[in-house]
Amino acid sequence: MPSDVDTLLALPGIGAYTARAVAAFAYGQRCPVVDTNVRRVVARAVHGAGDAGPPSTTRDMADVAALLPAVDSVAARYSAALMELGALVCTARAPRCADCPVFDTCAWQLAGRPAYNGPAKAVQKFAGTDRQVRGRLLDVLRGSPGPVARPLLDAAWSDSSQRDRCLDSLLVDGLIEQTDSGLFALPGEH
Ligand code: SF4
Repeated sequence: MPSDVDTLLALPGIGAYTARAVAAFAYGQRCPVVDTNVRRVVARAVHGAGDAGPPSTTRDMADVAALLPAVDSVAARYSAALMELGALVCTARAPRCADCPVFDTCAWQLAGRPAYNGPAKAVQKFAGTDRQVRGRLLDVLRGSPGPVARPLLDAAWSDSSQRDRCLDSLLVDGLIEQTDSGLFALPGEH
């Protein structure tokens, strides 16, 4: 597996998020890893907004890059911490501000927790979305008595690029595991 973001991005099925997550978390590099949770933390703690607006890869990356410490290994830990903060503390509906390590400097807190008044987020239809593809892939594994070979998963969705991206994200998220012999299985079922 390459460690360089540009090389990772050139691989089929590897998108902006996955490439940077591999570089940061597998190789300890300083590069912004931006998911929905991170965007929300930055919107609140840095910009004082109640929530993140519509995504913009360029702006979101620049926002997070500006926060990262200079040393690679420290930046990689910082990236993991940002993601955990958004997932566990600064949650979308009920942020646990009293337990938050950045409470004292959070711009949203200091501004009096104003309601989000930015542009409405686009609601993605379910049909054809990555969520649907991920569900199809998981259904294949749930319906199989044991680990399955790649062609069975390939048959679940015709768009190979989207299918590869979704399979990769399921592997990264730990919802699917790959066996030593290259088969795919649900966690703990091989
Ligand atoms: S203080 Fe509250 S709003 Fe600010 S970052 Fe922490 S959890 Fe989020």
